[in-house]
Amino acid sequence: MRILVIEDEVKIAQFVKRGLKEEGYAVDIASDGEEGHFMLSSNEYDAIILDLMLPKIDGLTLCRTLRKEGNQTPIIMLTAKDTVKDKVKGLDSGADDYLPKPFAFEELLARVRVVLRKKDSRVQTQLKVDELCLDLLTHKVTRGGREIELTVKEYALLEYLMRNAGNIVTRTMISEHVWDINFDTFTNVIDVYINYLRNKIDSGFSDKMIHTVRGKGYLLKK
Ligand code: CA
Repeated sequence: MRILVIEDEVKIAQFVKRGLKEEGYAVDIASDGEEGHFMLSSNEYDAIILDLMLPKIDGLTLCRTLRKEGNQTPIIMLTAKDTVKDKVKGLDSGADDYLPKPFAFEELLARVRVVLRKKDSRVQTQLKVDELCLDLLTHKVTRGGREIELTVKEYALLEYLMRNAGNIVTRTMISEHVWDINFDTFTNVIDVYINYLRNKIDSGFSDKMIHTVRGKGYLLKK
């Protein structure tokens, strides 16, 4: 899952980015409303963390603009103000959730999970494909009851494949949802990570779950 953080305070932006990356999210930062708007028009994101007070275009205006343009990406609004009036304004502008600063990172993380879950319109804390199971809260992955140790990036890639189980995902889709804006399209890093995952998920099992679809991409299925 790839998240855009639109926040002009460098310390907060870096704090949020670091924390989310540790949880396996791909994260980009925009430091003002205009940059945020541009990045949203040129990349695909699964969620947006949007500060209210921003240079160039403020958070409320940007939120309204995005919704008017038909962008339905879940938005969590951050703000220094914690009054009912401001909260209502934020939600009325089209934000999905609202979090006053200062906040505990754990709370932001929980809210990110909630908006991503809503986007899925399925209430779930686990992804299951046949005997493969991924716990979104603990990040524990098992196949046939046996626990599989994954790195943060492998986990993120597997989560994306499992969310799209039964469908072909292209390298472009993977790069847009699992890697951040610094992804280099000329490397074979995705294939390398697919192989890492295969070694961990499929080795020792006669039924392979991760399939290569020649000329198209990858497919995870029973
Ligand atoms: Ca700000």
